[in-house]
Amino acid sequence: MKWRLTSILVLFAAVILIVGCGKKEETSTVDQKSSTNKIKVVTTFYPMYEFTKNIAGDKADVQLLIPSTIEPHDWEPSPKDMANIQKADVFVYNSEYMETWVANVKKSISSNQLSYVEASKGITLGKGAEGEEEEHHDDEEEHHHHHEMDPHVWLSPALAQMEVETITAALVKADPDYKEDYERNSAAYIVKLKKLDNEFREGLKNVKKKEMITQHAAFGYLAHEYGLTQVPIAGLAPDQEPSAAKLAELKAFAKEHKVKVIYFEELASPKVAQTLANEIGAKTEVLHTLEGLSQEDQDKGLDYMKVMERNLEILKKAQAE
Ligand SMILES: [Zn+2]
Repeated sequence: MKWRLTSILVLFAAVILIVGCGKKEETSTVDQKSSTNKIKVVTTFYPMYEFTKNIAGDKADVQLLIPSTIEPHDWEPSPKDMANIQKADVFVYNSEYMETWVANVKKSISSNQLSYVEASKGITLGKGAEGEEEEHHDDEEEHHHHHEMDPHVWLSPALAQMEVETITAALVKADPDYKEDYERNSAAYIVKLKKLDNEFREGLKNVKKKEMITQHAAFGYLAHEYGLTQVPIAGLAPDQEPSAAKLAELKAFAKEHKVKVIYFEELASPKVAQTLANEIGAKTEVLHTLEGLSQEDQDKGLDYMKVMERNLEILKKAQAE
């Protein structure tokens, strides 16, 4: 009898140990707020993170929600992400037309402390590239019906300044103790954005070729700001692939305007863009959308400013003839 009791106890202990370990793994990754008094700010994709981080400095705990290797147009939060957002004081996102799932987050999270910041608020959004009317299939309609306005404002250094102002006001409101720090950091970052804006304005003023064919319609605001015309292969999201008719139109356009470069990006499949480039005998270049910046690139010291400067160098050369 006694040995049975012992073995049952041992079994119990083992079960507790296993359950205990499993539980620890589940809960340990998410949140370390309790150890600090800093406000917690959750940001969606890379530029939102960088802008916020530059305003906050070390005064707030700023987190990036969407992994940098994932194309954010199609990302959606998991229950774990929802729990993380729920514990935040401030949640920064770009636009309801980019992070289309934010409406659901607002509906399902109840928190008195959480303030939502739509960084593009106050910026008049355009419809994307001219003549760009999406040809939806029925199953795509459901995913993309929110993409009708162009959310890619961060790629214009002029509009990025307005996003920084909006985020700054929200941080000051949520955490007035550090008002001066936030405003000072923000002003310093805006000086850098102004310089970048001037470099783009000067650098692209006299380029010969004004038409640029891009992989998806990410560069509409940039093109508009600096006198170029973007003609996207895909729509406002990278997976909105063109019809055969649209491709034929693009080919004709490229020939007519003697387009010699097709711009790819990093996070989306270049298949269609590559096909077009092959067919018209164009070179390819990579323009960075900053929809994600890999950890590897961040470790190399790359950031919004450096990537945008590289974009400018590529544009200056490629649009020169
Ligand atoms: Zn995009």
